[in-house]
Amino acid sequence: MFGSAIKLHPEDFVCAVCKNYLSSAPIYLSEDSRDICSDCVQSNVDKPYRNVALEKILVKIFFPCKNQTYGCTTAYKFGEEEEHRSKCCFKQVHCPFRRNHGCQWNGTYGKIHEHVNKDHDKLLKKHAKFLINLNQNEKHTFIVSNGNFFVVDYMNDLNSGILKYNIAIFEPNIAEQKSTIKLVSECDPDSMIQIKGGECVSYSNELFEWIPENIIDLNKTKLLLNNPTSIWISFTVQVQQNANAKLVKSKISDFFKCVQCSSNLKLPIFEHNNKLICSYCYYSPRITKENFKMIAPDSSISRLLAEENYQCRNKHCGQIIKGNSIVKHEISCPFRLHKCFVCDNELVQSVAKEHYINHGVEYFTDEYNQKNVNGMHKLRKIFTLLENEIIYITINCIGIQPTLKVQQDFVVHNYKLIMELKCAHNQCQFPSEKYVLNAYGQTTTLLTSNLPKCFHEQVNVKFYFSSSILCNN
Ligand SMILES: [Zn+2]
Ligand SMILES: [Zn+2]
Ligand SMILES: [Zn+2]
Ligand SMILES: [Zn+2]
Ligand SMILES: [Zn+2]
Ligand SMILES: [Zn+2]
Ligand SMILES: [Zn+2]
Ligand SMILES: [Zn+2]
Repeated sequence: MFGSAIKLHPEDFVCAVCKNYLSSAPIYLSEDSRDICSDCVQSNVDKPYRNVALEKILVKIFFPCKNQTYGCTTAYKFGEEEEHRSKCCFKQVHCPFRRNHGCQWNGTYGKIHEHVNKDHDKLLKKHAKFLINLNQNEKHTFIVSNGNFFVVDYMNDLNSGILKYNIAIFEPNIAEQKSTIKLVSECDPDSMIQIKGGECVSYSNELFEWIPENIIDLNKTKLLLNNPTSIWISFTVQVQQNANAKLVKSKISDFFKCVQCSSNLKLPIFEHNNKLICSYCYYSPRITKENFKMIAPDSSISRLLAEENYQCRNKHCGQIIKGNSIVKHEISCPFRLHKCFVCDNELVQSVAKEHYINHGVEYFTDEYNQKNVNGMHKLRKIFTLLENEIIYITINCIGIQPTLKVQQDFVVHNYKLIMELKCAHNQCQFPSEKYVLNAYGQTTTLLTSNLPKCFHEQVNVKFYFSSSILCNN
């Protein structure tokens, strides 16, 4: 009767009481025919019936993540909300310094890095090493950024002689991580013991509302280290590969390497004189790629690589993706790192827009117009996002000749950035001049003296993107 085109919309399946999606079993039906989730059933329904028929239907639906408003685009399957939510990098978390330093910051998981760099740089360390005075109660929280990024929270209690600590890694989805602890006497560096540390977990709000739960018995340690007054404690975290990563070990993908960057080739790949390069190298503004041609998707090597599994190259992501869409994922991955063109700090792609706006850089979407650039007499910084690429443009009109710099990590291959100059005279019929800005990362000087006379005094500039090329240089 319905045919095969029946479409189910998640918004039609919400709990009658709490209005949350009915995205996990069991689902109940009340006597007055309302669908109720398992959280609400006890306090709201006297005689519930389990609605198994509905559960069977809902297995076919994908539900949008609750953190959609914060940027998550993932949809999870019926019954898998918990699993997604635990690794959703858009979930909202408190600042790790909330308890010990009173910071009230709240934000997206993926933004912790930036927040800590900006507001707690004094609490950032290169090593997880700290000195404990055995005659003093102490508690402290600090963050270690040394390739791994984790928070250490500890408290030393004189009464019990116990040091309690937690280590939490800022990755939403980690396999079990182990830690090692080295304890060294402050007065005698040769007095040293090494013990197995507690398990490191993914950072979450709950974790830092609790008291740390891993313990070191300082009374015992003190005896072993010949009674020092202070002890150096250092943690080493051994990050283990995500369990999924085992799927990726493949002789095939390891065999084909890019001749430029020697990383494993991922589709699409480019060839010239039997040399293969990866798309990152091909689209990098720093590499000359004339003569390189894309290998057809139906060629045997493309078909081979399309079937491979790859792990996302972005640290902290770890998703496993098929060869035909891995590059697409990596480019739009919320964990992709971008080095800010203004301050040189590394930041995750998902916060880049906000970051540039905080620098006072003006954001534009489709086009940017500036009247009378010659008369501007200042530095103007603008940026846009095109297919996940930050395109950062500096227009310097302080000197006599305006100069212009365009910066971006990779070339967006479907589009060209066009700069159009137009005479500012009201009634002027003079045609505008268009330039394709291909010299990424290089400075282009607008020599107004080379421009038609009409442009000498006042020229309006417009930047926009075009998928076709109709320009005169
Ligand atoms: Zn409910
Ligand atoms: Zn999510
Ligand atoms: Zn904070
Ligand atoms: Zn502190
Ligand atoms: Zn390469
Ligand atoms: Zn990724
Ligand atoms: Zn910056
Ligand atoms: Zn004119």
